[in-house]
Amino acid sequence: MGSPRVVIIGAGIVGTNLADELTARGWDRVTVLDQGPLPLTGGSTSHAPGLVFQTSPSKTMTAFASYTVEKFLSLNVDGQWCFNQVGGLEVATTEERLSDLHRKQGWATSWGIAGRVIDPQECAKLHPLLDPTRILGGLHVETDGLAKAARAVVALTQRAQSRGAVFRGSTKVVGIEHSAGKVTGVATTTGVVPADIVVSCGGFWGPDLGALVGMDVPLLPLAHQYAKTHAIPELAGRNTELSEAGFPILRHQDQDLYFREHIDRLGIGSYAHRPMPVDLRELPGGEVTVDAMPSMLTFTEEDFAPAWEQCQQLLPCLETATIDVGFNGIFSFTPDGGPLIGESPAVAGFWIAEAVWVTHSAGVARSVAQLLVDGRSEIELHGCDVHRFEDVQLDRDYVSETSQRNFVEVYDVLHPLQPKESPRNLRVSPFHVRQRELGAVFLEAGGWERPHWFEANAALLDQLPRDWQQPARDAWSAKFHSPIAAAEAWRTRTAVALYDMTPLKRLEISGPGALALLERTTTAKMDKSVGAVTYTLALNSAGGIRSDLTVARLAQDVFQVGANGNLDLDYFRRQAGADADVTVRDITGGTCCIGVWGPRARDVVAALSRDDFSNEAFKYFRAKRVRIGGVPVTAMRLSYVGELGWELYTTADNGLRLWDALWAEGQRHGIIAAGRAAFNSLRLEKGYRAWGADMTTEHNPYEAGLDFAISRGTKDFIGRDALTGVSADTVTRRLTCLTIDDRRSVVLGSEPVFLDDEPVGYVTSAAFGHTIGAPIAYAWLPATAGPGTPVEIQYFDRRIPATVSAEPLVDPEMKKIRS
Ligand SMILES: Cc1cc2nc3c(=O)[nH]c(=O)nc-3n(C[C@H](O)[C@H](O)[C@H](O)COP(=O)(O)OP(=O)(O)OC[C@H]3O[C@@H](n4cnc5c(N)ncnc54)[C@H](O)[C@@H]3O)c2cc1C
Repeated sequence: MGSPRVVIIGAGIVGTNLADELTARGWDRVTVLDQGPLPLTGGSTSHAPGLVFQTSPSKTMTAFASYTVEKFLSLNVDGQWCFNQVGGLEVATTEERLSDLHRKQGWATSWGIAGRVIDPQECAKLHPLLDPTRILGGLHVETDGLAKAARAVVALTQRAQSRGAVFRGSTKVVGIEHSAGKVTGVATTTGVVPADIVVSCGGFWGPDLGALVGMDVPLLPLAHQYAKTHAIPELAGRNTELSEAGFPILRHQDQDLYFREHIDRLGIGSYAHRPMPVDLRELPGGEVTVDAMPSMLTFTEEDFAPAWEQCQQLLPCLETATIDVGFNGIFSFTPDGGPLIGESPAVAGFWIAEAVWVTHSAGVARSVAQLLVDGRSEIELHGCDVHRFEDVQLDRDYVSETSQRNFVEVYDVLHPLQPKESPRNLRVSPFHVRQRELGAVFLEAGGWERPHWFEANAALLDQLPRDWQQPARDAWSAKFHSPIAAAEAWRTRTAVALYDMTPLKRLEISGPGALALLERTTTAKMDKSVGAVTYTLALNSAGGIRSDLTVARLAQDVFQVGANGNLDLDYFRRQAGADADVTVRDITGGTCCIGVWGPRARDVVAALSRDDFSNEAFKYFRAKRVRIGGVPVTAMRLSYVGELGWELYTTADNGLRLWDALWAEGQRHGIIAAGRAAFNSLRLEKGYRAWGADMTTEHNPYEAGLDFAISRGTKDFIGRDALTGVSADTVTRRLTCLTIDDRRSVVLGSEPVFLDDEPVGYVTSAAFGHTIGAPIAYAWLPATAGPGTPVEIQYFDRRIPATVSAEPLVDPEMKKIRS
């Protein structure tokens, strides 16, 4: 039997790249269908100006972009370029932007892209249309440039065809045929095309295509303005029809603008206008031409007028110029700005790859091809997986509001902790009312309101011992932070605190097949006594960490799994498949969890219960059903902050009563409510990893320092074979603990780390360690960088000295937590 029959819907830059990637891997039964004519289909790619700025806060997105550059450089049609590497220049007209460009240059370094922040004169030398007196500097990335997307489509189509792929234009997909939950074909206006796998690369038509299998595709089509000037004398004779452009592509993000040359004219893209959502039923019809297509709406001059003034202020040559043509082009935005990759939960074999820019198209296509052919992508995809969203985030109004917000903020300087302003209060724990009474400052994640600190604890700052006092932070790291976190950390380490752990994803895996499922999918031994709690990992077939989990065996056939997010739910459901012996349920919303942690935790819970909470009767990493303050509770003796204590789970209806009972009893013991800021600091002091930030599928357990979670027995599990021969001694990189020498310098994550002046890694998580009185950063570094090694972290435009430290920094003998 040959390769599976694949139908790709959409012959834009994503669909053609995918056909190329699949056929390059030997899959030769690939058919690409498009409703429009070929090769100019009328989708977003057909008019894309093709600016490729590679650097982004996301390592994955940057890797996608670099691959696009590398691949497009190797393509041509009749000798004509598909990538013109003119470089990229992002200029600053405000101090805030200039400093953000330094931050961005740091990301570039972290992700392996060379870039330099340069002064105004050098900017003007590179891009002589700039007046150096109007800017403060710029970030120059030599390897950025222009993708000729419409030509790349032709090159990719030709290459895929030469390997057997079939392309059919003017063929609209109107239905997905499936049987027994599996794709069997695609219904089109010209008949049915049989298929084993269908990949929708339908761009902003994605929601309509997803609807054909009942799949929510959380993207919003939005219009974005692009205009071309008449010929500009300053450009006369500089470029030819062939080269089109010679100056770097240019971004003026302070005014939401970007620029490129079109021979002797300038093209201008603007995000400075109001968000303009598009109703797919109102797309222009008629024949597709270069100037008229469904993805091009009429230019609304009044929306462009303020942007035009800003263009003229930046580039003096435009003061006498005029706009020739413009259009409002349509493309996709999503609730968090990331692309959408993944398989339908209901119809196996139906995949999507949507909300993808030209910039990331080749990288996304390569990863999707790897998922289909090898079952996993080399580059980690958790920020791209369509299943990352919670149910509440799939609501159409939510998608619309958040995607429009992303349009508005597309070029804004965004702090890593910056919360959404709206929609808020989508999901609240049962303790929310009490948290508000205590002055909780909430940030948002997954639709949940999560307290970061409590203003009520400000009074504790006066009692804070000197060695717990944190020096003032710089303005950036002080944003969305409060010194109150220090007081909350102090009380946790010296008395007791309540942490709301409700938003953490909880699954219940039950049934006669539950044990076998968990044994197969996770690394640690699962067949333990009822009441055992186990920290374990789910790996992919290459031994990469797809999640870390805390599994409690609550009954012979009932396991509660503390997970990282919706991707875990999706994973376990898929792994369970049609097995009637296993049920995988998301119990997060119907339950709640309080972490009661600190040396006085036992005093608080024991006083409220007839159950035995002594060290002998209730051991570390054990779970029991108990009653606390009359509330039925599943108590697990665990702590992410490294103190004595329990995670107390109950149903949502009982939550408030549990909180109130603990709170009332705790008053004698100095109890406080504490937030995520203190939590993050305490967990780093204990060396507890956060999946997604500290490690992903790109890292194996030995590299991440989590090999203790791997069974030493004969148990077989997904990923085991790939770890044969791997050990802590063979790894070449390690997740490493750093302490920062200057107490005032707190970094936030993703900054590059230098060893002997060479960039060798990047920061994953960071916080001020209140117990140790120094900032902490975890970073991926060469395994040779052992404790005591001096390194430097680049923070904006400066280097901060740090030292590799033995971990954990607090209570390495585990005396506190096991007391
Ligand atoms: C004005 C503007 C400027 C932009 N500038 C840039 C830029 O500088 N850099 C950058 O990286 N990105 C840019 N983008 C974004 C970029 O153009 C898109 O993200 C990208 O082209 C999307 O590619 P795609 O293949 O996913 O979608 P498309 O190119 O839209 O392809 C989807 C295809 O699916 C087909 N299709 C849909 N429904 C069906 C159906 N039912 N049956 C059959 N076929 C169907 C469509 O006809 C279409 O051809 C810009 C977008 C706009 C609007």
